[in-house]
Amino acid sequence: MPKPASGKQEKGSGRKRRKGQLTIAGLAASPGLVMGKVTIVGDGVTNIPVRKLDSSQVESEIERFRHSLQETRRQFIELCDRLRDKLKKESAAIFDAHLLMIDDVTVIDRTITLVREKKIGAEQAYSMTVDSFIKVLGAVENDSYLRARTADIRDVERRVLSNLMGLGDTSRIKLSEPSVLIAHDLTPSQTAQLDRKLVLGCATDVGGSTSHTAILSRSLEIPAVVGLGNISAQVVNGDQVIVDGYLGRVIVRPNSEQIDRFFARAKAFRKIEERLAELKDLPARTVDGTLVELSANIEFPSELDSVLSHGAKGVGLFRTEFLYLTRNDLPSEQEQYEAYSQVASRIAPDQVIIRTLDLGADKFSSQIQPFPDPNPYLGNRAIRICLKRKDIFRTQLRAIFRATAHGDVKILLPLVSAVEELKKAVAFVRRVRRELTDEGVAMAGNVQIGSMIEVPSAALLIEDFLPYVDFISIGTNDLIQYVMAVDRGNERVAHLYQPLNPAVIRLIGKVVAAARENNKWVGVCGEMAGDPYTALLLVGLGVDELSTSAAAIPRIKKVIRSISFEQARRIAEKVLTLNSAAKIKNYLTQRIEELDEGIIEIFGE
Ligand code: PEP
Ligand code: MG
Repeated sequence: MPKPASGKQEKGSGRKRRKGQLTIAGLAASPGLVMGKVTIVGDGVTNIPVRKLDSSQVESEIERFRHSLQETRRQFIELCDRLRDKLKKESAAIFDAHLLMIDDVTVIDRTITLVREKKIGAEQAYSMTVDSFIKVLGAVENDSYLRARTADIRDVERRVLSNLMGLGDTSRIKLSEPSVLIAHDLTPSQTAQLDRKLVLGCATDVGGSTSHTAILSRSLEIPAVVGLGNISAQVVNGDQVIVDGYLGRVIVRPNSEQIDRFFARAKAFRKIEERLAELKDLPARTVDGTLVELSANIEFPSELDSVLSHGAKGVGLFRTEFLYLTRNDLPSEQEQYEAYSQVASRIAPDQVIIRTLDLGADKFSSQIQPFPDPNPYLGNRAIRICLKRKDIFRTQLRAIFRATAHGDVKILLPLVSAVEELKKAVAFVRRVRRELTDEGVAMAGNVQIGSMIEVPSAALLIEDFLPYVDFISIGTNDLIQYVMAVDRGNERVAHLYQPLNPAVIRLIGKVVAAARENNKWVGVCGEMAGDPYTALLLVGLGVDELSTSAAAIPRIKKVIRSISFEQARRIAEKVLTLNSAAKIKNYLTQRIEELDEGIIEIFGE
């Protein structure tokens, strides 16, 4: 646990120091309690991709550049609207200058000329143009107004570049000392590349608790709070903060009483974790003998140590898209094969469920899609991309099939929304298998193919889906957002993102019942599997497996081992009759209070 920092302001932060303690409430994204010095992220885009274009790519690159300018303009106008009431007149004028800068014909023409003549990527061309523009401004020694505009120009540059790089930009955050990262937002690819040794915790202005950034923080075991409003404007580099990933709040510049309380709570949580760690080698079995498979979700093979040390039984979800998101090119078949077979052989004899590429939405890759979708969660995503880009899909499937020779590997298809789509995808998977068989490649004799159930249409048509698959895994993160029409990454509507809404619970109940009736294995790999309340409910509904972040495994195991299946079944039966999320939460809280006292601490503060 880090010592309280001195709280000195770093030189050159360029912000006025704000004094005084402040407690900001947000959304708990990743459990843990940490105190440290702030590093603000997002003041500059690093790692501008350097790409050489073919002649055939030039025009679409220019179109991409124009699109990013349009997007930046839209974002500034939105920002201006949002802040209009809060800003003084002269501050609002800054944004006029920003808009003029975005539309500056000289900068646009120069960038396009560089793309055409040098055949370089738009990011590099734009950045070179802005650099030379700023040099000229700096040379006008006596014009303090023009020199002061440099910061605005850099701000515009940063936004245009991050739009060009999309949400999937691969810029790495570089830290020189252990810090708590504070940012307006962190992309999933940035989060995936955080250095665990230097990042003590994270706090962001925006985001939801089941966004992929939040999920990654949990995987990396970095305490995190999201949806904090404007925390990035309330701190300066070097400020001391406490990130409370259990309660979803951040204390900025804590006083001595708060620091004492922090140390006391951190000690208490460590004790709970130590006690839970004793369950590592015990099965996730209810008191009346029902065994629940309790497995882990991973994004990278490097998470396996944590998976094994937390006592997970296999990998229930390998989110393979992160192999694509942390680089500027596509991973080869061989690279993927090595990653998949490493996981399969280390986790054997337990199973690993490898999910095929789920890119799109907040996991944007400009390698695969030149422009972000206007409505990304409803756009070109996951299996939809794969069925259009069969070249990419084939490469991945070949790698997965080759890895089946090294362990118990199953294939899971994401975001399937229609029976025809499922049939097409399964047929393609089988075709790739036949190709490998013809080539004489070593593979397992029988490789099960499953479908994620995370779109309401798939859940409603579950009986029609089941004949085409060997198993299903319920993706509650997406299922909730699509059932409730609530963006899982938007803190402004987070109160409506309700895992316990009866519509969600009844739909899950329907899917599980259909799977059981048809003797099909059913798992849950969304975040509901890692929350003690909802895990209890899912067990009662009759799921075969719960798959969650490695760090959540001990808590969920404790819950399962504290209850009989019969009790859980009765609780689920009652919950299915309740008609509001509040009533369900209330009912679950009461039932949980009746359970063995040892598990209360898992739910409480
Ligand atoms: C889900 O949607 O619940 C899921 C497990 O997939 P992801 O979180 O990667 O979208
Ligand atoms: Mg999903």
